[in-house]
Amino acid sequence: MSALKTVIAGVSGRMGRALLEAVAADPACALHGALDRAGSQTLGQDAGIYAGGKSGVAITEQAAMALTGADVLVDFTRPEATCAYLDACRQAGANIIIGTTGFDAAGKAAIEAAAKEIGIVFAPNFSVGVNLLMKLSEMAARVLAEGYDIEIIEAHHRHKVDAPSGTALGLGQAVAGALGRDLKACAVYGREGVTGERRPDTIGFATVRGGDIVGDHTLLFAGVGERVELTHKASSRATFAQGALRAAKWLQGRGPGLYDMRDVLSLK
Ligand code: NAD
Repeated sequence: MSALKTVIAGVSGRMGRALLEAVAADPACALHGALDRAGSQTLGQDAGIYAGGKSGVAITEQAAMALTGADVLVDFTRPEATCAYLDACRQAGANIIIGTTGFDAAGKAAIEAAAKEIGIVFAPNFSVGVNLLMKLSEMAARVLAEGYDIEIIEAHHRHKVDAPSGTALGLGQAVAGALGRDLKACAVYGREGVTGERRPDTIGFATVRGGDIVGDHTLLFAGVGERVELTHKASSRATFAQGALRAAKWLQGRGPGLYDMRDVLSLK
């Protein structure tokens, strides 16, 4: 089978660079185009500057040109950029992998509408391990539903501006859903002073921030006489890039539709 003709958006960004490296290392993918925002210093340069060598692909802001003849666009940018790229993908008949986060309702509606014409994998976390952790969490919650206190502990680098992380909240949702609880009603996001005894039906969150931690998540079930801990640790952005390429390969030839990483990994 011929290599997947892959266009990467936001190539000057942290994820864009990780994606260029991942494509360069994957014989099943071939770099077909490299996009960056208008006005970026990188425009016109060879995309290989970020992946250790020449790629023969010049960085451009012209999405229509970059997408001509492409199989897929991999987009980890900003919502406004993704929405413009969606239209370009529809016109070029290319699939799109969306890792960008922070869409409002209109942005999500635009993604759903585009999925009627092209294949889309849209996921807040492309790590294979994190998606597996979500599934294991649901299983564990059902088995440990009675007599175990549930706490979610996450750690991220010092530049992260929101807490708890989207992944920690996703874990909370997964566990609450498996137990038939409403996360809004049972979540406890911080403890200080005289808090009183722990209520058994709560799900607690604890946040650590520091240094260059890429992302750690632990789901703790604390019972009497034993504890079960499910932990995932991301050590580099390569994990998200590899997950995104895995999704791009899975999507090829599948036809229009909106999918997430649980579809890609057969975890539904
Ligand atoms: P970054 O700031 O390092 O890079 C953003 C890139 O987007 C840059 O190359 C920038 O030039 C480009 N960009 C910004 N505005 C643009 C516009 N209007 N048009 C075209 N290009 C534009 O950010 P990052 O850390 O690489 O993260 C990018 C996105 O991916 C964020 O939304 C982040 O939350 C998300 N993310 C998702 C996952 C996941 O697994 N789904 C993992 C990591 C990051």
